[in-house]
Amino acid sequence: MISNEKILVTKTFLPPLNEYMSYMEEIFATGWLTNNGKHVVELERELAKELDIDKLLFCTNGTVVLDMAIKVLNLTNEIITTPFSYVATLNSILWRDCKPIFVDINESDCNINCDLIEEKITANTQAILVTHVYGNPCDVIRLEKIANKYNLKVIYDAAHAFGVKYKGSSIFNYGDISTCSFHATKIFHTVEGGALFTNHSDLFDQLYKMRQFGHIYDDYYLPGINAKNSEVHAAMGLCVLNHFNEILVRRRAISELYDNTLNYNIISKPVAIPDTQYNFAYYPIILPDETTCLKVIETLNRNNIYPRRYFYPSLNTLPYLSYQECPVSERISKSVLSLPLYFELSDSEVESISSLINNSL
Ligand SMILES: *Cc1c(COP(=O)(O)O)cnc(C)c1O
Repeated sequence: MISNEKILVTKTFLPPLNEYMSYMEEIFATGWLTNNGKHVVELERELAKELDIDKLLFCTNGTVVLDMAIKVLNLTNEIITTPFSYVATLNSILWRDCKPIFVDINESDCNINCDLIEEKITANTQAILVTHVYGNPCDVIRLEKIANKYNLKVIYDAAHAFGVKYKGSSIFNYGDISTCSFHATKIFHTVEGGALFTNHSDLFDQLYKMRQFGHIYDDYYLPGINAKNSEVHAAMGLCVLNHFNEILVRRRAISELYDNTLNYNIISKPVAIPDTQYNFAYYPIILPDETTCLKVIETLNRNNIYPRRYFYPSLNTLPYLSYQECPVSERISKSVLSLPLYFELSDSEVESISSLINNSL
């Protein structure tokens, strides 16, 4: 038994209140709350510096940015996607009346299996929209080759991949557009928030306008939406960003402690491809089967510990879709479990979680 307090899969990092209050005092003094304010601009600049990218667009959440990415690329038909992600990835495709074509995943990293993509490409295929699951990069080089060969656009749902680098470059630099979520459950957050990244300046320009209804003052360019984020959200981002290094150090230590204490003769876990600089966004484990997975959940729940079945169910099995078979994703989604991982989680809590899991195998 650990403590009387519930241990959830994550706990939002909150900066010291006085740090946030000093931003609030300034915001209250100026009365400037939104519409590309000073703190939004500063956050965009600081994030670009932190992530070592050219620029980004700070938006309201990680779902509307997917919608905008599909819209700005004029996608209206078949989109190759992954069945192993959060439902927002799939919903963005359906929301824009496009057709999701599922391609099964790799056992090794839970990302889309590039060997299976080409057989799913038809004359109607327009794009590939896939997730860097748990922050593990997709095989972006291979995906780029496939996309070039068939003239497809590539959108990465990089909601898990804040701070990840691949071959020394920010993961956000790959693909035509990458999106991120800054939701309170994510590794870097602005309470609610998200971002768009693209190195195509024409797309960036359109997305910039699209974010604010499609106009700049009295000049109207395109039918846009409202995806601007506020000064109070940007202030939270600036505070959290100040602590981001400490957050990473702690999350790495917790992950290594799990690595060293869990019984890896029986358990396995997704592993990133070589040349990845990881962000320790999640700690997923794969159990031998669903029965064992449910047993582990039950044991942990009895001890006030609540891991999450990320990602369950496999998205190709959702009731509002016509079924497309993806055996690997369906199997892994039934036996995968994301363990508690957050800044405040103590070593003794991690050790207890590991031994509870090991004992119930
Ligand atoms: C969290 C998440 C989203 C949605 O982000 P919100 O900011 O909550 O809208 C989209 N895709 C993936 C893979 C996510 O994990």
